[in-house]
Amino acid sequence: MRTAIFPGSFNPFTIGHADIVARGLRLFDRVVIGVGYNVRKDDAACGAAKRAARIAALYAGEPRVSVEAYPQLTTEFAKTRGAGFILRGVREVSDFEYERRLADMNSDISDIETVILTANPALAHVSSSAVRELAAFGYDVSRFLPAGLVWPEPQQL
Ligand code: ADP
Repeated sequence: MRTAIFPGSFNPFTIGHADIVARGLRLFDRVVIGVGYNVRKDDAACGAAKRAARIAALYAGEPRVSVEAYPQLTTEFAKTRGAGFILRGVREVSDFEYERRLADMNSDISDIETVILTANPALAHVSSSAVRELAAFGYDVSRFLPAGLVWPEPQQL
């Protein structure tokens, strides 16, 4: 059984992320979407848990996908889930530099292999931060989110 962790902040989970999950399912038997707490982007554990629950609802009909919030190192989380792989996406060169550093560090500290997929060119401009920015100005961001995703939460409006 080949299991990959797809770690991220997913604040919010976009159609770009959903594309990586769908493509990951062609490579792996199981994809575990891991909503990590990134101190630079989000320090609220309960925010991560809520996001995980909303993402999980999207995949309720897909038994090969599970979603969890996790507090530890991604490599440790991967080990506890029996995952040998970390799945990530890159949109542009700046993403690549960041992803390569992460992948190199994770392979230094564990046996976990990182598999990086290039973004679908039609979705390469979609980022959580851009979606948050548009939403903050009242733009309807629903077309950048998978159908059925509840975001923003009512108290964030
Ligand atoms: P992080 O905070 O760890 O960077 P993100 O939630 O921003 O997490 O993104 C998770 C992963 O998804 C990262 O590897 C990121 O590069 C990738 N990603 C984000 N948006 C897209 C997209 N539109 N297409 C492909 N990959 C993407």
